[in-house]
Amino acid sequence: MAKIVFRDPLNRNTVTEHVVSEWLFSQETPYQQVDVFRTPEFGTVLALGGVINVSERDEIGYHEMLAHVPLFAHPNPRRVLIIGGGDGGTLREVVKHPGVEEAVMVEIDQVVVEQCKKHLPQVASAFDHPKANLIIGDGLAYVNEAPDASFDVILVDSTDPVDAGVVLFTPEFYAACHRVLRADGILVPQSDSIVYQPTRVAGVGKMLRESFASVDFYTSIVPTYPGSLWAFAFASKGPHPTRGLDSARIAELDAQLSYYHEELHQAAFVLPKFLRDQLRG
Ligand code: SAM
Repeated sequence: MAKIVFRDPLNRNTVTEHVVSEWLFSQETPYQQVDVFRTPEFGTVLALGGVINVSERDEIGYHEMLAHVPLFAHPNPRRVLIIGGGDGGTLREVVKHPGVEEAVMVEIDQVVVEQCKKHLPQVASAFDHPKANLIIGDGLAYVNEAPDASFDVILVDSTDPVDAGVVLFTPEFYAACHRVLRADGILVPQSDSIVYQPTRVAGVGKMLRESFASVDFYTSIVPTYPGSLWAFAFASKGPHPTRGLDSARIAELDAQLSYYHEELHQAAFVLPKFLRDQLRG
């Protein structure tokens, strides 16, 4: 019998093939093609628009670094907004913080949430948490209507700039996030592949600098994403990305973490010279 493979395009010229052991779900929703399948190498995988978004094996490198870097850099995050993040992994990490009172998550596609609850329950484990507030809707519309200075941290856990995700990679969206953040607020958008899309990563930095005085980049290792090394922008209204971390707060959460630790937080902002130069404003 012919092997089933999932072909994940890294860019126009390059493709990775994943052997599929079982196909679990496929549907074209009003927003995107949603596929869920099992692979021998990375466990259960969610693909959106034909591109791998989450895998059971390597999701911690993405979710822990997206959530904990800004949440520990911020002195006292109480209200957190997640845009996208339908698999629930970022929400799972945010609600771990004892000081967080509410995590609002605005995801456009209900089907992603439902399928991740069914097939990736260890990732989608926090939707019923008392601090979690899931809203099904468009992230840009939500931010446009949100009151000024109403969140401490905003995490943009979106798909890449395709389909419904396009509006989340614009200067207008970043300006609206700046308005909605409190005086010492931090915005972290997932920002693409540093190996395959360095120009796109630099473009995110350029757009963010139209609203934020301080923009840095850090990376994490996510093998199912193009080039493995994934970029996150760190746009801040006040807190420095690495100075002033509270070791006691980090130690309090240590037993619940598998990827993030304080030294890694510091190291994640150290980039190779050519990238540092390319991403500098
Ligand atoms: N880590 C992933 C990646 O980079 O591949 C992202 C994972 S998460 C599943 C992305 C989510 O963003 C999807 O569930 C998608 O439906 C959601 N999304 C895309 N555009 C959106 C929008 N405008 N508002 C809210 N959610 C959106």
